[in-house]
Parts: sequence; structure tokens; C-alpha cells
Amino acid sequence: MLAPYAANPDQSIGRKFDEQPTPLINGVAVRNDFQRDRDRIIHSTAFRRLEYKTQVFVNHEGDLFRTRLTHSLEVAQLARGIARTLNLHEDLTEGIALAHDLGHTPFGHAGQDALNACMRNYGGFEHNLQSLRVVDQLEKRYAEFDGLNLTFELREGILKHCSIKNAKQLGDVGERFIRKHSPSLEAQVTNFADEIAYNNHDVDDGLRSQLITIEQLQEISLFAENMAIVKDKYPAIEQKRLIPETIRRMINQLVMDLCETSLRNIEQLSPTSIQDIRQAPYLVGFSQAIEAKNHALKQFLRSNLYHHYKVNRMSAKAERIITELFTAFMQNVELMPEEHQEAAKYDQPRAVADYIAGMTDRFAIREHRRLFAVEEYL
Ligand code: MG
Repeated sequence: MLAPYAANPDQSIGRKFDEQPTPLINGVAVRNDFQRDRDRIIHSTAFRRLEYKTQVFVNHEGDLFRTRLTHSLEVAQLARGIARTLNLHEDLTEGIALAHDLGHTPFGHAGQDALNACMRNYGGFEHNLQSLRVVDQLEKRYAEFDGLNLTFELREGILKHCSIKNAKQLGDVGERFIRKHSPSLEAQVTNFADEIAYNNHDVDDGLRSQLITIEQLQEISLFAENMAIVKDKYPAIEQKRLIPETIRRMINQLVMDLCETSLRNIEQLSPTSIQDIRQAPYLVGFSQAIEAKNHALKQFLRSNLYHHYKVNRMSAKAERIITELFTAFMQNVELMPEEHQEAAKYDQPRAVADYIAGMTDRFAIREHRRLFAVEEYL
């Protein structure tokens, strides 16, 4: 069922270091190369850390909010469904989805912005680029190489955006930004799955936290129209069920529109290979009408949730923790664990940024306390 323009593990551009093919059972490979990639990601240290990293709400704020891990699982679930509908390679989309946030700092976007500000004079910090750095260099699990030695297609999918300056240093995966080419459809699908996932789960988490209300969301047509359908069908529905019934319809509407619009775009171009996809503009996307509705929801979340004063207070604390950790390790490299001191011999700011970016929320809070609270030991 794989479309001729889908990514195909048998025609992969390959891995940086050659490896033995997977063993055969009755003449069939146990796993294809994209499955191997996905499995390496799931077994990585960075993947396990996602459980304790903030999506919007810091881990200790509540057990029911999304974390980076549950967010990544939701992205993978959506991306696989869309990939299957478009006859793309499901294993590749799943792998890209599970890896897409591996480079996130603790404390979500507040953490990323703070670390980027600290790194201003040392090449900056960007979580998307850091995700690639994690799988290419920072994971140390193999005897023969650093990183996970993933296929080109998986790495291409992780790198969503990139400046020309950075692209020139990245080699193969950077090239498309210089040539203005597109990534595989699997990568394009995962980008949209990411967006559909967070817009919808942030409505859910926002309502749960009571930082936003159903009344406020009435101005957002994507929400209001779907809620009206639910209320029409179930006039006596309790609020606890009303919200998920509304949100699942929102997700469904977005996914259906994305699949239909993308299939139309693909049909129009009639690509015959992945090369055709890479040379074409982005083919995965929403219709104009849904794009506008989705944009309105995004704007709503930005002004009412991500910049709610209670979220701002947590962001300000996060910024302080990240900045103070960075300053302390830059002033005295010997405060870092030994393996990070070793890396600092080559590039201290980058080694400090790698150490901080790898921390979970709670580890960063503890590490900050260990360094700054006199009554704390070690
Ligand atoms: Mg994400």
C-alpha cells in the first residue's frame, strides 16, 4: 500500500556509519530501518526524560496535564493515522514524532528562551536543532559511534527549521534549507500532527487548570461549532464529558481536512518518487477555511493561556533557574559532573547548554537548590 512517493526504508539515503542489516527470519527482516530508528529513540535516555519535562504546565503542578512524553505519544498517534490514510510510511512518522521534542529544555518555552539568551554570544540555543544534536551526538549508547546513528530520513524529519548559517554546518540534513527544498511527506505530516496535538490538548489542559474557560472559548469557531453539535446531540451532557466530546470532534475535523487537502495537493502534482516531493513545495496542509480557524485557536491560546499571568509567574521562575545555573557553570566549570567537565574542555558554553538542556524540570529545580541553598548538601 506504500505510495511510490512515500519514504521507503529499502531506498533510504542511509546512516552515517554502516551497520549490519537486521537478521532474517524465514527470509524476512525482523525490522525495517525505520523501525530500528524508532526503537533506538524509545530506548534512549533523552526519551525517558520527556516524562518529566514541561509541555505547558510544570510537572509538579498536576498529574493529569500533558508532559513532553504524553504530548509526543499523541503526536505519534495522530501522525501514524494520517500517514496510513496518505499511504506513507507509518514507522517513519512514528519515529519522527517520538523524537521531535527530544531537545527541549526543562520548563518548556520559557526554558528554551532563557537558554537561548544565555547562549546569545556562543551560537544560540534552539530546541529543534538540539533534538538533532541529541540523536546525532549526545546519546552515548553504542561502542562504535556517538549518537543513535539514525537514517537520513528520520534526521531530516527532526530538523523542522534551520537558519542558512546553521544549515551550512549541518551537512546532508542542512542542504534542503539552502536549496529551499521540502522534507518527506512523512516529516510534513508529523509537523501538522504536532500542531493538531498541542492546540487541542492545550485547550483540554487549559480548561482543566481553569486558566481559560468554556465561555471564553465561545469566540473560537472551531471550539464553539463543535460544542454546539455535542450539546445538540446530548442536551443534558455533563461538563466532564462535554469537553472531551468537543475536543475529539475538533481533532477529527482538523485531521479529516488535512488528509483531504493533502491528498488533493498530491493528486495535482502526481509525484512518482520521494525526489519529486522534496523538490515540490509543502503538499501537506489545511484548506484555507480550516487554516483560518486553526490560526484563531492558536492566537487564542497564545494570549489567554501561554501568557496567562499564572503561567508567566512560573516562566519567570524557570528563566531565573536556567540563567543562574548557566552563569554558575560558566563561572566555575568544576561545579558540573565530570563527564560534562570533559566536554567543556572543547567548548564550555555548548557543554553547559547541553547539560542544562538535558535536565528534567525537577532535576533542574534540585540542581539549582544544591548550588544556591546553603542548607542543601551535594
Ligand atoms: Mg511538539
